[in-house]
Amino acid sequence: MTEHDPTTASKAVEPYNRLGIHYHQIPRRKIAGKIIDAHTHVHHVELTRKFLAAADAYGIGAIWTMAPLEDVDALRSSFPGRFEFIAIPQWRNMNSTAEFINDWLHRLDAFFEKGSRLVKFHMAPGTQHRTGLTLDHPEVRRVIRHAHQLGYHFMTHVGDPQAWFGPGKKYDPRDGYKSFEEQFPMLERLLEEFPDRAHLGAHMGGSMEDLDNLQRRLDRFEHYFIDSSATKWIVRSVALQPLEQVRAFIIHNQDRIVFGSDLVVGEKHNFDHYASRYWVHQKLWETDYRGESPIADPDAPGGVSKLAGLDLPVEVLEKLYCSNARRWLYERVLERSC
Ligand SMILES: [Zn+2]
Repeated sequence: MTEHDPTTASKAVEPYNRLGIHYHQIPRRKIAGKIIDAHTHVHHVELTRKFLAAADAYGIGAIWTMAPLEDVDALRSSFPGRFEFIAIPQWRNMNSTAEFINDWLHRLDAFFEKGSRLVKFHMAPGTQHRTGLTLDHPEVRRVIRHAHQLGYHFMTHVGDPQAWFGPGKKYDPRDGYKSFEEQFPMLERLLEEFPDRAHLGAHMGGSMEDLDNLQRRLDRFEHYFIDSSATKWIVRSVALQPLEQVRAFIIHNQDRIVFGSDLVVGEKHNFDHYASRYWVHQKLWETDYRGESPIADPDAPGGVSKLAGLDLPVEVLEKLYCSNARRWLYERVLERSC
């Protein structure tokens, strides 16, 4: 068989659509009204148009993005009112040199002037390992204090999927990586030190697979809220736990979770790639879907994740999709309505 064999070519399976879903046929939504996507990496105007075709189709309205500072004005003038901007450093060059930290401080000032009030600290184990930076690092503390003085609220990526931790894994302790559990004390120190600000924990606070500790953190820090973003990770971790337990967790914390996709725009992505994330989230939160996820997942057993829908009540969905973001992100962080 060659790669030109028409029978294999026609069976080529895209990682975003293992099941041949027609993503242009949008399943009926359980709630009316637009959804706020609180976590994306939208940048670059032309790439963003393709992404927005999928976002529009799936009822997504306002979108919060971690675009580079250089893209803010162009995105704002091309798509008036559609995007809010989360302040980020130049992640690609991130390191602990004075040059980088000073640039980070300048970017905080510039983002603030452009209206940003939420600053993101990406402190996943890989980032810590590569840059030598943590939330406790004195230079990062300098950035945090500067952000606080300016008036920013905080967003953090702490932790990563549990499947990535352990001997032989991406975060192998023999390579100097700390364990999953050891990721979170630095977050709790930050939460403790700045109770006067809202703190958004990306990807269910990095703890979708550790709901007991996530609950403890939510109970202890009332200024902490979390986003639902990272499709594969969230879907996998829901399906691997007792469903009623996860559902009870979401319902119990229904005022503390905002919807997010974590979609990243890119040259190689098409409508179906973007739509797949929104489709899967819709099935996860709104329906009692039982089956495989259409998105390939190398971290799931056998490379295929189950998708188990939580069929949340309408009033919980309304909070997750919209009113929590209005309260936390618009009223509290931006100090205006949306
Ligand atoms: Zn993200």
